[in-house]
Amino acid sequence: MEIILIGAQGSGKGTQAAMLAQALGIPHIASGDLFRKEIEEETEIGRKAREYLDRGELVPDDVTIAMVLKRLQEADCVPGVLLDGFPRTIAQAEALDKGLPELGKKVDAVVYLNVPREELLQRLAGRYICRAHQHVYNIYTRPPREAGRCDLDGSELYQRSDDVGEAVQRRLDIFFTQTIRLLDYYYQQEKVVEVDGNQSIELVQRALVEGVRKHLNA
Ligand code: ADP
Repeated sequence: MEIILIGAQGSGKGTQAAMLAQALGIPHIASGDLFRKEIEEETEIGRKAREYLDRGELVPDDVTIAMVLKRLQEADCVPGVLLDGFPRTIAQAEALDKGLPELGKKVDAVVYLNVPREELLQRLAGRYICRAHQHVYNIYTRPPREAGRCDLDGSELYQRSDDVGEAVQRRLDIFFTQTIRLLDYYYQQEKVVEVDGNQSIELVQRALVEGVRKHLNA
């Protein structure tokens, strides 16, 4: 079961992905998390990716595609995977359509979490994530019990450097000009499940699980 989740920055994609992956019993693989780990561990990929992340730009396709396809070959991905943040360009989608069959897999569904742009900026301004496991909070809409600490693991909460300033606008611009084009690509393959992301976390979650189940059974 290979599922792709597409949503703009601040759409609630990360929060929903974690819950959906758990409901479906498959790992949640987020390309941004993979990059941040490579950067923290100071690997070759991390060295190449760092400047792009800091500016809020896309990392070049060759680096990104190689990193994600390698991750998909690990043992935990055998039952399937929920991909979050990848693909983001047509070239990445094509590379995935080429690489998955070699692993005996294909893309089964593409979920689009639709949230209007005005709403996204406000959500991003309040977003904090935890150091240990990237659990997501929002100081306005979903604050932690204790300020600055993760409810789940007690680690420190921090604001991503690309959630502030110009990098936010740049990431949203890229999403609405480039990533959004992926929807056409997958609509042509009749794989898109669209969910209204502008409602409560619980309602979005329910719509997501129902939408995916219905699509997979169709
Ligand atoms: P967001 O989607 O909120 O910007 P992510 O954590 O998904 O955050 O990604 C953070 C950064 O990692 C992106 O701004 C980009 O620099 C890089 N990145 C993640 N996924 C990709 C991808 N599929 N292609 C290119 N760059 C990526």
